[in-house]
Amino acid sequence: RAKADGRGTFRFFERAMDEAVQRRQALKTALRAALERGELALQFQPLVALDSDAVTCCEALMRWRHPELGPVSPAEFIPIAEETGAIIRIGEWALRTACRAATTWPASVRVAVNLSPVQFRNPGLVQAVRRALAEAGLAPGRLELEITESVLLRDDEANLAVLRELRALGVRIVLDDFGTGFSSLGYLLRFPFDKMKLDRAFVAGLPDREQSIAIVRAVLGLGRSLGIPVAAEGVETGRQLDALRGYGCEEVQGYLFSRPVPSAALDFGRAKWADAVAAG
Ligand code: C2E
Ligand code: MG
Ligand code: MG
Ligand code: MG
Repeated sequence: RAKADGRGTFRFFERAMDEAVQRRQALKTALRAALERGELALQFQPLVALDSDAVTCCEALMRWRHPELGPVSPAEFIPIAEETGAIIRIGEWALRTACRAATTWPASVRVAVNLSPVQFRNPGLVQAVRRALAEAGLAPGRLELEITESVLLRDDEANLAVLRELRALGVRIVLDDFGTGFSSLGYLLRFPFDKMKLDRAFVAGLPDREQSIAIVRAVLGLGRSLGIPVAAEGVETGRQLDALRGYGCEEVQGYLFSRPVPSAALDFGRAKWADAVAAG
């Protein structure tokens, strides 16, 4: 009996594995044509400055609606796009589309675009950024490029050179998901980032968890000492917002203020936190 159960469990896992492999293969194939079929879209999520409650920037986040499977999360399809190299094409599309969208916003609002480490292995990256700005007629100072520290992990020197070239165009370079991954403070010595985004994992523990408070305050102190503004990701509650305000955080992003929405649905009015807190 035990033996039979064991075999049944094994078959169950085998089938689940098969399904996962098949889904990944299906997504891999479908992703090649997704752009041409108009299945990809960008949504935008605002960042709000805590000194003025004004929207400073909106982050472009990619969305994929597969005709049969429905919405597929970027957490699932971006790694596949990186593996197949499709990220080069769809990444350039995101740059062009985001820059064009930003020209319809108030001039005080910047646009942030995520760059995959794989895009740094493409020698055409700097040219693609320059072209996206020129074609849209967007001032380079209105574009923020979000990178994770994995960009500085390997191929250090080559990627640093690309970062310097991008900075020379006049765009801002932002360190995304700070505090996760390999988090070497050495990266902060090697490149003068324009902003650090504190990962949502640390914000989630506010305002009660001692360890989260310690880490958030330490990162904000580090930013202050280095002259790098810090944005907090994933702010979902009024209590998290109050804590971050108290610690002197410069910017926040999260569901409390707004989910990612299509460009046409963005609201650039001053943040009404009281309403957001009441609603959330
Ligand atoms: P990210 O760059 O760190 O983006 C922030 C993620 O947190 C987004 O997830 C956003 O929807 C989510 N988020 C924002 N506020 C909240 C909140 O209050 N609570 C919670 N629970 N989540 C919140 P999303 O859109 O699923 O994207 C996931 C990741 O996929 C992004 O993380 C980014 O690494 C990657 N990604 C998305 N779009 C692109 C793209 O165009 N290019 C590249 N290379 N990567 C992208
Ligand atoms: Mg990001
Ligand atoms: Mg992030
Ligand atoms: Mg993140």
